Amino acid sequence: MQDVPNTLKAYKTYIDGQWCDAASGKTFQTFDPYTGEPWALIPECDAADVDRACNAAYRAFESGPWASMTQTARGRMLRRIASLVEKHAEHLARIEVQDNGKLISEMSAQLKYLPEWYYYFGGLADKITGAVVPVDKPDTFTYTLREPAGVCGLIIPWNSPLLLVGWKLAPALAAGCTVVIKPSEYTSASLLEFMKLVIEEAGVPPGVVNVVTGYGATAGEALVTHPKVAKIAFTGGSATGSRVASLAAASFKKVSLELGGKSPNIVFDDCVLDDAVNGAISGIFAATGQTCVAGSRLLVQESIHDAFVEKLLATARTAKLGNPMSFETQVGPVTTPPQYQKVLSYIDVAKGEGARCVLGGGAAGPEMGGGKYFVQPTVFTGVDNRMRIAQEEVFGPVLSVIRFKDEEDAIRIANDVIYGLAAGVWTQSVKRATIMPRRIRAGTVWVNTYRAVSFTMPFGGFKSSGVGRENGQDAIGEYLETKSVWISTAASAGNPFVMKTSPQS
Ligand code: NDP
Repeated sequence: MQDVPNTLKAYKTYIDGQWCDAASGKTFQTFDPYTGEPWALIPECDAADVDRACNAAYRAFESGPWASMTQTARGRMLRRIASLVEKHAEHLARIEVQDNGKLISEMSAQLKYLPEWYYYFGGLADKITGAVVPVDKPDTFTYTLREPAGVCGLIIPWNSPLLLVGWKLAPALAAGCTVVIKPSEYTSASLLEFMKLVIEEAGVPPGVVNVVTGYGATAGEALVTHPKVAKIAFTGGSATGSRVASLAAASFKKVSLELGGKSPNIVFDDCVLDDAVNGAISGIFAATGQTCVAGSRLLVQESIHDAFVEKLLATARTAKLGNPMSFETQVGPVTTPPQYQKVLSYIDVAKGEGARCVLGGGAAGPEMGGGKYFVQPTVFTGVDNRMRIAQEEVFGPVLSVIRFKDEEDAIRIANDVIYGLAAGVWTQSVKRATIMPRRIRAGTVWVNTYRAVSFTMPFGGFKSSGVGRENGQDAIGEYLETKSVWISTAASAGNPFVMKTSPQS
């Protein structure tokens, strides 16, 4: 029996417009990664709760106020959601920091930016149109309808919970879908607060947005395999993404996946040095490296390698570790205990492979400003791109510096990984700034900037980094089905035994 401190905040989950416990009555604790202390209790939903949520979402999709709402009214609803996120941004940011230990400066900026997703997709809601299509048959009127896909399962990781919910929820609602959201077991609280302060307050009808808090293997898999779910949108690790995709394939669900990366941040000798140093640091130490687009491989042209590394280390050494709730802190804790162990074990792997540790290289205790799950900002030089530290996603503040000779060499190294999520290029040459983005196999290439995102710009991965795109106008297509409608105005129905292929048949 779990020993539960009575000071813990007890959350309920939200299914079919009702606040409820898990059917089993079970709960689990959520921890503050800075202190390592539990602070809230979360319902542990399982297949029974997922079934209830999916059935509620299906009913709301098929009939009721949401199903009959005009596209324009859906857009208005999304704009109401946006303004409520604006109103509660600061509170929601603080809950996220308490749950995932990311910096308040980052989460606060993220939450203040988040309303834009709901405004943008709210604006698109009544611009979803089919087309009248000229067809090669007489006496026939043909057109297409673009209809919502149905019930969508949204599976969210712990690193930027509400932002990544928004990337999926905003286009899903704009398209007219209903959803069941499974947050990470480590970061459920901000989503439950969002449901209360935003979704319920905005008057979103019951069953349209449901939450099942719980574990991936139980609640997550029950959602992915539920027969009433038409589409799964997932963000997380590539191994989990592969399992999710194969489970979903059994019932032919539509799937979009935003997975891991091993992104190259490529510094040419003609770059503006200070900008490139800044970009290299923000690429790997911001968010404690716990971001899918982390620039975890720093490719530096050999002619400036040593000078650049020296400059990089001078800045990296000043990184202030500490309480993520303070706006002064620059590097916070790693979010989860397994992730903390994983990051430390990769540092050992790199050392064992013969990479040279020139900064950090271990846990960061209180004497360094750290605490329970802190890792020192770590830099390895002399990394060969075939080493595991250069090939595998660490998801922590660990940078691998790799030398290259020229453009061809940089492209070869950049593309020589299974991933293809993002890349950075630092150069003042227009030619390089044009050629490199074309040659790098990645969904996003930043030139002279890094980690910039927008609701207007498509985001997603090549290769093992994912399937489909979030953000931008096309993202809405991930939540739509196209229907072809044929209306015959012919006097005669024609030959019943022959398919209507040619204009004459
Ligand atoms: P996971 O991929 O394991 O988790 C992402 C989400 O999927 C969570 O909600 C998780 O639930 C859920 N999940 C886990 N297993 C299943 C399953 N079998 N079926 C359905 N859903 C499932 O990421 P982790 O949080 O464990 O992190 C592991 C690695 O993933 C990191 O080291 C990093 O490499 C990568 N990652 C990538 C992110 C990105 O932005 N692309 C974000 C976060 C992680 P639960 O939390 O309960 O397990």
